[in-house]
Amino acid sequence: MKKVSFHTFGCKLNQTETSFLENEFTKRGYRSVAIEEPADYVVINTCTVTARTDYKCRQLIRRVRKTSPDAKIVVVGCYAQMDPERLKSIPGVNLILGADRKFNIFDYLENGKPANGIIEETGDNEKFIDSTPELFSGKTRAFLKIQDGCNSFCSYCIVPYARGRSRSDLPENVIANVEKLVANGYREIVLTGVHIGKYGQDLQPSISLFTLLRQLLEIRGLGRIRLSSLEPKEIDDDLIDLIAKNEKICPHFHVPLQSGDDEILRKMRRHYSVTEYKNIIEKIVCRIPKVGLGTDVIVGFPGEMDRHFENTKKFIESIPFTYLHVFSFSDRPGTDAYNMREKIDASAKKERSALLIQIAGEKKAEFYRKAVGGYFDVLFEDEVPGRWMYGFTENYIRVRSAKKADLFNKIKQINVSSADNNFVLANVLD
Ligand code: SF4
Repeated sequence: MKKVSFHTFGCKLNQTETSFLENEFTKRGYRSVAIEEPADYVVINTCTVTARTDYKCRQLIRRVRKTSPDAKIVVVGCYAQMDPERLKSIPGVNLILGADRKFNIFDYLENGKPANGIIEETGDNEKFIDSTPELFSGKTRAFLKIQDGCNSFCSYCIVPYARGRSRSDLPENVIANVEKLVANGYREIVLTGVHIGKYGQDLQPSISLFTLLRQLLEIRGLGRIRLSSLEPKEIDDDLIDLIAKNEKICPHFHVPLQSGDDEILRKMRRHYSVTEYKNIIEKIVCRIPKVGLGTDVIVGFPGEMDRHFENTKKFIESIPFTYLHVFSFSDRPGTDAYNMREKIDASAKKERSALLIQIAGEKKAEFYRKAVGGYFDVLFEDEVPGRWMYGFTENYIRVRSAKKADLFNKIKQINVSSADNNFVLANVLD
């Protein structure tokens, strides 16, 4: 039995696509092994959002070359799409497949397409490719890709170039996939993509994420749905209302902010002002008081002077975020920001990032403290053998409970007894 190993860099979408490829290899009789183990094939699904992810990918290729000297190394995904020439220069790489070409992998490995020498194929990413795996190994939550690509071209972002134009899966196919995942025992479905707020706008007839959600709520046996990232201006009153009224849609919004300064937002081409962002968040919090509210922030965007950063810091402190993802600006060749002057030095980025990460920790701890005494529904996902079970509440609080036999992959009601900075302790109510 041939052995194959996988490594995924980047987003939930990449993880879902790797799970799909892993399923396909397993169906063909391959045995999936850990990336540290010798294998016949090594598949690396790449990300190119930052220069650091590119570097880590190149580093991994060199490492697996040592672990599996005879393996065929296949590099797929966004970095492969954007810089195949650089990857070709690394000894040991056999096959380079771009964003949507990754799904043609067996054409090269099995159907006799010559696999010696370096093959590279990067496509046009025009069609939506359904890559829903039956199984997500070792996971209780299923990440379902409903949309791919993006038309926004925020000035710092490489994603539209790497993944192509926004394109959606047909609603009937999304419904069929959710039904399949529910039948396979998944209690929580995370709807993911690059820009899911634009779901359905490319379809004829077009359909909205709101309408799709209402159709998914009809599915028998559905546990709960969680939404991945939503752009601010794609959150309207109807969507907020639908989530407020339906326990089967998690009261958890992840709404990228990127900057809390209007001048920087304009340079980023983010199409909303700080005031507009604040108004949308206030509507959500007013309608759904226990909401889990996450965001992404970039520090060190070109031209971000101390006063701009101060505005961002003050704005973040004024918003009831419950967690933050903090990123340092990374120069991406091909993006407009790459050609901007007034680049910020690494030490300033580091300092600003540390400040926001500290605020993030305080906000999360405060949110967890406020949960003490409260009742929530947790999907138990992983465990510390013999001691603890862990899972997330509907509003994205990490929970630890004493291990009980039948908790794994179950949604159970809990009562929070105390809070730590990174989890709350809770009792499971039978
Ligand atoms: S919305 Fe902007 S940041 Fe998000 S993927 Fe599209 S271009 Fe990138």
